[in-house]
Amino acid sequence: MPHDHSDHDDPQSLLPPDPALRVKALETLLTRKGLIDPAALDVIIDTYAHKVGPQNGAQVVARAWSDPAFLAALRENATAACAGMGFEGRQGEHLVAVENTPRTHNMVVCTLCSCYPWPLLGIPPGWYKSDAYRARAVRAPRAVLAEFGVHLPEGQTVRVWDSTAEIRYLVIPQRPEGTEGWETGALAALVTRDAMIGTGLAKAAT
Ligand code: FE
Repeated sequence: MPHDHSDHDDPQSLLPPDPALRVKALETLLTRKGLIDPAALDVIIDTYAHKVGPQNGAQVVARAWSDPAFLAALRENATAACAGMGFEGRQGEHLVAVENTPRTHNMVVCTLCSCYPWPLLGIPPGWYKSDAYRARAVRAPRAVLAEFGVHLPEGQTVRVWDSTAEIRYLVIPQRPEGTEGWETGALAALVTRDAMIGTGLAKAAT
């Protein structure tokens, strides 16, 4: 099944040397041909630049840490639970939350392209789309984690989730120690993008 991505057919995922120039040229061409409306484009860019990003996923994680009923709902149907917080839309139609525990660390990849839960995390980082990450996350997850500065205890198993055409995963990192009773806003500030991909951990309480 196809993954819903423009870069699906480009296994190298290489950007041209002058992407901004090429984008501008394309935008001009498409506008002149009447195929796009620059104002509509601005709305889309504003959405992904300012409204959609890891801060959304961080709110989901913080609530999962603090609200047992919400955690249960997230386990039952993450798509519906996230939509209930207003996080829904393209690339977020079939969300699955995977919880880190002292025994299991979860890590997400899309070996075929770059499927990613946009409504929760925004646009994927370049490394997530790279051949190196996509190949090595599966073959040598611990080595990849080490490169991200993550060193897990020996007894903790790494489970790698390969995104499919339909499913987008959100890692729920382990709640940092010493955060009992914290407000969700303070908790969310500890939740990084990488922690929700599984290539990082939540920040320690300070
Ligand atoms: Fe994909």
